[in-house]
Amino acid sequence: MRAFDYVRAERIDDALTALAEGNTRCLAGGTNLLDLMKGDVEQPARLVDITHLPLAGIEPLPDGGLRIGALVPNSDLANDRRIRERYPLLAQALVSGASPQLRNMATVGGNLLQRTRCHYFVDVGFDACNKRKPGSGCTALEGPNRIHAILGASNRCIAVHPSDMCVALAALDAVVETQSRGGARRIAMHDFHRLPGTTPQRDTELRHDELVTAVTLPPSPFAEHSRYLKVRDRASYAFALVSVAAALDLDGDRVRDARIVLGGVAHKPWRARDAEHALVGHALDDATLSAAGAAATHGARPYHDNAFKVTLAQRAVVRAIREGART
Ligand code: SF4
Repeated sequence: MRAFDYVRAERIDDALTALAEGNTRCLAGGTNLLDLMKGDVEQPARLVDITHLPLAGIEPLPDGGLRIGALVPNSDLANDRRIRERYPLLAQALVSGASPQLRNMATVGGNLLQRTRCHYFVDVGFDACNKRKPGSGCTALEGPNRIHAILGASNRCIAVHPSDMCVALAALDAVVETQSRGGARRIAMHDFHRLPGTTPQRDTELRHDELVTAVTLPPSPFAEHSRYLKVRDRASYAFALVSVAAALDLDGDRVRDARIVLGGVAHKPWRARDAEHALVGHALDDATLSAAGAAATHGARPYHDNAFKVTLAQRAVVRAIREGART
């Protein structure tokens, strides 16, 4: 690992000052960042240790929602009674990610910022990776690309976003709160992660001098009928080939409102709005389910090894909706 400076932040201002200096990364759980530093993928000049900042609480909001501090461990969040009862979709997504040991260390802020597991990105032995080295090319376009994107990719990058938590947060209309020396920002979860376009080195809309401080959840109409379904190679521990966050607001068997968000298929949690349109206002019968499944992958463009993801995603959407409707 390359040498770096270490700064321990006692106050949020300390962290913001360090971030403003540039080439600085925040150290919290370190479950992704330290691995990438050991592999020479990430090369920050400075780490600012934010683990002592007062960002580890889960607080009720006046509107009935919750504000989740950026340093809340994934395991604490998954086990919080308010999350399990009011946002079970989020609890399901959290426990489907990583291992118990990693969930004890990983934080909400770090989960938002975790980087792709594209083989060619995490192995510096592959020279061509526009995300790691802008302008160098994309090895995945011609190499094995079974785990890569089928939606929203570009000819610069076909990587997928790896988080389970973020897929559920997108379905729950979460908002990311950030702070910099220039002020605070609130960014809708749908807008926080980016598609690769011509700048795949940028995963999110977070600026280099901004600190993620919290995620807020509005009151949810989806608590009774939601399901996070993750399809992966090994049930015990693997990233999603395809995942689905299905959240339904039902009036009898008729769908009043819905969120369908896919993971493992794009550079960001992929909101399948066409699938939602196929559901809203309709009875949840076989025809509606089938239409929603087909609509979920509208615009899909698979690569030579991952056409199976299109069918897999369609079937996973149907199953997640079915199971969510029964909960
Ligand atoms: Fe790099 Fe993206 Fe191509 Fe993977 S898919 S090799 S991350 S540019």
